Amino acid sequence: MEIQITCPECGSGINVLPSVSATAAKCDVCTHIVPLTFTQNLVDGKLCDCPVCLRKDFYQQKDFNRVIGAALFIFAACLVPWTYGLSLLALYLLDVFLFRKLNMIAVCYKCKTIFRSVANLSEIRDYDHEMNDRIVYSDHDFQGKPLKH
Ligand SMILES: [Zn+2]
Ligand SMILES: [Zn+2]
Repeated sequence: MEIQITCPECGSGINVLPSVSATAAKCDVCTHIVPLTFTQNLVDGKLCDCPVCLRKDFYQQKDFNRVIGAALFIFAACLVPWTYGLSLLALYLLDVFLFRKLNMIAVCYKCKTIFRSVANLSEIRDYDHEMNDRIVYSDHDFQGKPLKH
């Protein structure tokens, strides 16, 4: 498993590999130290507890750059008057054929840490907007359980 922490001080990405002996990661940009707690599960590639914030709530998403995706969409939308909407159709087909092949990543709702090559990815649910709002704005802890209505 590869882990990319978002530095709480400057927002830079810090890459770490799970290891039971690792207790902190240092930001290369601002030298901030992020304390880490790695469980044996994480070392084995299983995502159960976030090493940064110790929460159990994660979502999965495609591993592609959202900025590029948004730029492509705007570009295709600008071309609509000349292509009669075919540019959006082309973008849709590109999304289906190209982005579907991209790997999935898991992300911690609370601290936005990114996990790649997760062994138990199938246990991790898709992004839930309501869960995100409750975790980020109300500091609610779902303990890894899905949202119930
Ligand atoms: Zn930093
Ligand atoms: Zn976290």
